[in-house]
Amino acid sequence: MADLFSTLMTSPLAKKAGVPQPTRLRRYTPGDLLVEGPVLVAGGGRFEKSLVGRLELAGVSVVTSLDEVDGRLGGLVLDLSAALDPGELGQLHNLGVPAVKRLDKNSRVVVVGTDPSTLTDVAEVATQRALEGFVRSLGKELRFGATANHVLAQGQADDGVASAVVFFLSGRSAYVDGQTVRVNEASTQPVDAGTPLAGKVAVVTGAARGIGAEIAAVLARDGATVVAVDVPAAGEALAQVANEVRGTALQLDVTSEGAGRRVLEHAVARHGSIDIVVHNAGILRDKLFVNMSEDKWAAVLDVNLRSIVRMNEALLGEGALGEGGRIVCLSSIAGIAGNRGQTNYATSKAGLIGLVDALSAQVQDRGITVNAVAPGFIETAMTRSVPFATREMGRRMNSLQQGGLPRDVAETIAWLAQPGAAAVTGQVVRVCGQSLLGA
Ligand code: NAD
Repeated sequence: MADLFSTLMTSPLAKKAGVPQPTRLRRYTPGDLLVEGPVLVAGGGRFEKSLVGRLELAGVSVVTSLDEVDGRLGGLVLDLSAALDPGELGQLHNLGVPAVKRLDKNSRVVVVGTDPSTLTDVAEVATQRALEGFVRSLGKELRFGATANHVLAQGQADDGVASAVVFFLSGRSAYVDGQTVRVNEASTQPVDAGTPLAGKVAVVTGAARGIGAEIAAVLARDGATVVAVDVPAAGEALAQVANEVRGTALQLDVTSEGAGRRVLEHAVARHGSIDIVVHNAGILRDKLFVNMSEDKWAAVLDVNLRSIVRMNEALLGEGALGEGGRIVCLSSIAGIAGNRGQTNYATSKAGLIGLVDALSAQVQDRGITVNAVAPGFIETAMTRSVPFATREMGRRMNSLQQGGLPRDVAETIAWLAQPGAAAVTGQVVRVCGQSLLGA
């Protein structure tokens, strides 16, 4: 996957010459401890007690005071959901400074707060909003693969907070940094932590290679039966992916007439239902706007946005995706920050954020969640086609000082697809190592 330049930059010679080396990130493999080392849970918020219980159940060594720890911390969870006055932000400093000094390599900081949009008092809103600035800055200061993320609770969202905190502490979130995720009060039943997607049927578009192939692999690893979809021209690679994940392949151009219906018919005929849809198929046709042909413009909008609107209409209209359904779209940080030469691509990816916003609200009462992940620089065939200087900048300009792997995107999608993530909807989770673009 690495190109010549990155191989040189990480060679023993480069290391000897003092070229800064990115930390090898802690990534999830089944059977791993959720987090290595003790996790300090503090802050006096309304989720603290339930979090301690749930983390202990998940096998985490939880401490509630730094005095209980001799060595390094694997994680720090600051529950400041009850902080309602700017004076209480002193806790960030009092609790945070000594704990952050004790953080281990690849450790995690998670700050839990109350969603400011659920508050009206000015001091309360200001206090809670302040936490976001803290998390984003701390993420930029942490080193050696450590990350900082933020969970915003809407009401007494115990299940949602637990699901998000567990994700952020785990190796699944290796390349997710500086993010804020909102969780609502939806409640969930416990599922097997090793195979949280057991019994689910997942459709993944663009699954023949790159991020899509990895999404298929990770969803299958977590117990899902996968329908791998890609264009007929990618049929051979698609069949290989489908075989590897013991799923089925569907050769289909997602822009074709009736694509949604064909997905539905295939999934129901072969596997009985559809529970998870991952809209991953996407294309680039970069050109400066003034030089862009109508074809390039239309192709990108068609694959990356229009086909997804239509496929969702088909799947939701037929009621094929029901209670517990999950839709995840692949947006991009280009859709948030914009990118030179990518007006068509950024238009399509920003459109997806709008889609997620609107559709999540429409289907919430049906128990279906709709979210997006917005990858930053991920090492794939798509990014290998990016010019050298832009590519190297993309790789380095983030808090983790490296590109992400397709697996990092797949792990975030797999979390959003879990039954336990029922409280997460309408969210855009950036998987970008806290890229400086659009931060
Ligand atoms: P890729 O080009 O490696 O793979 C995309 C897959 O989609 C291919 O297998 C392709 O055949 C398939 N596809 C394209 N058009 C299709 C169509 N009409 N019908 C069915 N399948 C079609 O891309 P990737 O890097 O793996 O990216 C996957 C997704 O992630 C895309 O939506 C992309 O925009 C998004 N993304 C990628 C990055 C990155 O750094 N690689 C960053 C941000 C967002």
